Amino acid sequence: GVKAGPAPLDASKLVMTLAEKLKPLPEPESLVFGQTQTDHMLIVNYDPVKGWGAPEIKPYAPLVLDPMSSCFQYCPNVFEGMKAYVGPDGEPRLFRAERNMARLARSAERVALPPFDTSALLTLLKEFVHTEKRWIPSLQGYSLYLRPTIIGTRPALGVSASDSACLYVVASPAGPYFKGGSRAISLLAVNENVRAWPGGTGGHKLGLNYAPGFKPQKDAADRGYDQILWLIGDRVTEAGAMNAFVVVRRDDGDLDVHTPNLDGTILPGVTRSSVLSLLNAHTSSSLLLPTLPKTLKIHTHEHPITMPELKAWSDQGKLLEVFGVGTAVIVAGVGRIGYSGWGEELVLPENEGGLGPVGKGLFDMLTEIQAGRVEFEGWCVPV
Ligand code: PMP
Repeated sequence: GVKAGPAPLDASKLVMTLAEKLKPLPEPESLVFGQTQTDHMLIVNYDPVKGWGAPEIKPYAPLVLDPMSSCFQYCPNVFEGMKAYVGPDGEPRLFRAERNMARLARSAERVALPPFDTSALLTLLKEFVHTEKRWIPSLQGYSLYLRPTIIGTRPALGVSASDSACLYVVASPAGPYFKGGSRAISLLAVNENVRAWPGGTGGHKLGLNYAPGFKPQKDAADRGYDQILWLIGDRVTEAGAMNAFVVVRRDDGDLDVHTPNLDGTILPGVTRSSVLSLLNAHTSSSLLLPTLPKTLKIHTHEHPITMPELKAWSDQGKLLEVFGVGTAVIVAGVGRIGYSGWGEELVLPENEGGLGPVGKGLFDMLTEIQAGRVEFEGWCVPV
C-alpha cells in the first residue's frame, strides 16, 4: 500500500478547551504594547513522522520544552505581527491576513521549518479571534494584536534543520502607538551595524533578525533618537521595524514617493504594500486620500534611496516628508535624521502631529479601512 506522509495542517481537527475563569479586561487606556495576555492560545505541534497534530485552542499557559530544543540553540524561529479590529457591526475583522500567512510560510521555509497549509492556519486564526473577541477594545485606534509564531522543537544538539516544530498564536490588546497624540520621531542613520545585507535574511520575518538590533537601538536611544535608520553603506533599508517612505516635490508640481525596492534586505511589509496601493489609488482617483488635493498626481517608486540623495532633496527644499510604516504604528512621521556622514542633522518640515499631508492621508485612510468604515478591495473583512 501507499505509505501516508506527514499529515497536513487540518483545521477540522481543532480541539477547543475554554478557560473556566476569564480574566478581567484591563482599562484600554492602561495598555502597554504586548504586555497583556488574553485568556487563550492556539497551538499545534509538528512531529517528523506524524506531521501536524490536532490544533488546540486552550487556556493561555507556559510551554514546556526540552532544553536541547533547536529554538534555544540555532534560532529556527519565525513570527508574524497582525491585528484584529472590531467593525461598526461589532464583528471582528482581520486586515489582509492572507498576506501574513503567506509571509509566515516564506519565513518558515527560509529556516527549513516544516511547511503548513496557509488557508488552514487562517481558518484556525479566525476561530481564535472569535474566541478572544471580547479582548478587542471597541475604541478608535484600538485592536487585538496577534502574534503567530513557529519555533523549532527538535530535541537534539546536532547543527541541522529542526524536523519538529510548535506553531502557536498568542494575542494582546493594543492601543494607539503614540499615547496622547502622535508626534514626529527622530532617526539615527547607522551603517557601522547592519540589520540586513545582500543574500541575508532581512526579507524574512525571522526572530534572529531582531536581537542584533537591540544594542544599536539602545545606543541610539542614549543619544536621544527614537529609532535607527538602518543603512547598507549609504543606502537606506528600513526605519526601526518599519518600512521607510520619502516624499519629494517634483518640478512639475506632482509628488514622487520613494521606498526601497524588495531586494531581499527589506521586509515586505503588509503596510508598505497597502501604502503603495493607496497612493496609486489616489492618482487613479479610485480612492482619494482626504488630506490631498483631488487632482494631485503621486508617482510611486520602488528603488534604492541613498543618504546623499536625501541630503540633496533637503538642500533643494524638495524633501517634504519622511515616514515609517508598519502594523504597530501604521504611519509615523520623521522630524529629524542624524548621520555621522553629515555635519548637521537633516530637519524635515514641521507638521502638526508629526505627519505631513501624505502621511496623514495614509494614516487616516488605513485606520478607516481597518475600522470597517471604508471598504477597499476586501482588505478588512469580518472573520
Ligand atoms: N520592517 C520590519 C523589520 C518589521 O519588523 C516590520 C513589522 N512586521 C515591518 C517592516 C512592517 O511590516 P508590516 O507592515 O507587515 O507590519
